[in-house]
Amino acid sequence: MSSQVYAQPRRLADCHMHTVLCGHAEHSIEEMVATLEASSLAGGIITEHLPLPDEVDSDRVVSMYPGELPSYVTALQVLRERSPLADNLVIGAEADWRDIDPQWTERSVADARAAGVEVVLGSVHMLGNWAFDDPNKIELWDSKDVDEVWEQYFTAWCCAASSGLFDVMSHPDLPKKFGYLPKDPREYYVEAARVAAEAGLLCEVSTAGLRKPCAELYPAPLFLAELARRKISFTLASDAHSKEEIGYRFESAVEALAAVGVTEQAFPKRDGAIDWLPLS
Ligand SMILES: [Zn+2]
Ligand SMILES: [Zn+2]
Repeated sequence: MSSQVYAQPRRLADCHMHTVLCGHAEHSIEEMVATLEASSLAGGIITEHLPLPDEVDSDRVVSMYPGELPSYVTALQVLRERSPLADNLVIGAEADWRDIDPQWTERSVADARAAGVEVVLGSVHMLGNWAFDDPNKIELWDSKDVDEVWEQYFTAWCCAASSGLFDVMSHPDLPKKFGYLPKDPREYYVEAARVAAEAGLLCEVSTAGLRKPCAELYPAPLFLAELARRKISFTLASDAHSKEEIGYRFESAVEALAAVGVTEQAFPKRDGAIDWLPLS
């Protein structure tokens, strides 16, 4: 038998990864990129959390410091120059939609794009100043009506999706993270899919949910089916907060997409270009 080892062809792209800059992830930009290069993935997008205002992140545990954006972009540009991934290493960022201050979000995204960020993820982590997915703020859920939180979330999500600010919507049903579920989420799925289709947005299939108490992909199977029915295209996302999480359980995402008839993933690149990568 031949002992020659053939390199596996690279496939799939991880379109959502974090670094130590945000204050709650483990590895440097260099370590994340090196791990991506050594993986079997075709490429990926580093998508650090953009700076947040002091009133929501006074301890700097959720987002990068405001002054760090230029050096973050430069570091990725320098790494890309010498990376075998070349243009398949994409400079991204994760932006927060603030329902109480959409103009703030607009400025945040404009600053990011002006600094050289190529792909912007749109995330709703906050309702008012409550970061409902933050484990340190989980006790607030007990004082809330779960159905009302979901209603508020999807109202905010639809505003975010139709704002024209984002390239991809992250973890679309994030309020389920800790297992707080509404009586019947279906009407939210239908409306969100309609709005996303109208806006021509990409949505993530995120395997981060598999690591959380909800223990399922974002979006849930029925939501994914509704998005697919509306011909939304999908990225794959680990939401890695450590290098070990890069490409985390992507086979589960591929399986879920195959089940709703999707055969390729979208990989957004510079200048609004999209590569279409076969899932199998
Ligand atoms: Zn994060
Ligand atoms: Zn993220």
